[in-house]
Amino acid sequence: MVCDLHMHSVFSDGSVWPDIRIQEAKKDGLDVIATTEHIEYQPWKADIPNPDRNRSYEYHSNFAKGSNVMVINGSEITRDMPPGHANAIFINDANKLITKDPIDAYLEARKQDAFIFWNHPYWASQSPDASVPLSEMHKKLIDEGLIEGIEIVNDTTFSNEALQIALDYNLTILGTSDIHGIVDWQYRIPSGGHRPVTLVFCREKTKTSLKRALQKGQTVVWFKKKLIGKEDFLIPLVNSSLKVNSAKYFTNTTVAHVTISNSSDAPFTLRNQSKYDFYNLTDLVMIPAHGEVNIDVRTIEKLRKFELQFEILSALTAPNTHPVVNLIVRPKQ
Ligand SMILES: [Zn+2]
Ligand SMILES: [Zn+2]
Repeated sequence: MVCDLHMHSVFSDGSVWPDIRIQEAKKDGLDVIATTEHIEYQPWKADIPNPDRNRSYEYHSNFAKGSNVMVINGSEITRDMPPGHANAIFINDANKLITKDPIDAYLEARKQDAFIFWNHPYWASQSPDASVPLSEMHKKLIDEGLIEGIEIVNDTTFSNEALQIALDYNLTILGTSDIHGIVDWQYRIPSGGHRPVTLVFCREKTKTSLKRALQKGQTVVWFKKKLIGKEDFLIPLVNSSLKVNSAKYFTNTTVAHVTISNSSDAPFTLRNQSKYDFYNLTDLVMIPAHGEVNIDVRTIEKLRKFELQFEILSALTAPNTHPVVNLIVRPKQ
């Protein structure tokens, strides 16, 4: 499911009424959004009193009725670092997260069986060099299951360090928009942009199945047309997107004309790591989203079957680490 699990409306410091968030989600083809208003930060409160913190969720849910957008009730626990900001989603009563001690808010969220993740841990407003200030408090929260995921992507920003922490501590990898304004403007969607989202691999399109998949870390982040995720989920996604459509040797040559198609929304940039080089391309191969590329492979001998190996430069499985995929080619005889 395509999910954006972090956003704001006028019910905290966002600029829009909840119906706009639902219209945006529908336009972007999202399956799931989570309402995550700041618990502690309510700048419009004098003009928009907000005594019941579940109203944002209720409004979003009502506007989503009859659509394919599933709305999850959440809240952003908004504190100084440490612990910084965290989203608790799948809660049933946001009001109970209003606590003096930040840890009590995490404990209350846990009591409500929430999925809790650390937001923008590398945010320059709380960490001027944009590093992740992983503290003993965070390690304890992770240890006690009070932090289960981490944003490695928030809005237009990304952190290698957060990705490494996700891998080291087995946290779920998340990417969110944290949108406050208008999605179309922020991500230039009319000119081909997209908001960052988390792809969650679930068995069914239900809240229970989604929560389970998040707890198990079954995610890939889609950010600036790049895919970022753990190998176990990213490599199958790439493999299911790329396919050898046809292959045939040019007459009287040992150059095979191979067509590879891409059935996904992600344009891929590949670097050739095969034994062979190409007659029509350098080692860099671009395959557009829902498009294809022709590669003329110099196999030197005529082969019944050969393997192409590519490093996927537009995908990331760890800091500065790109996954490698193999494609088997069987030229038509
Ligand atoms: Zn925040
Ligand atoms: Zn936020």
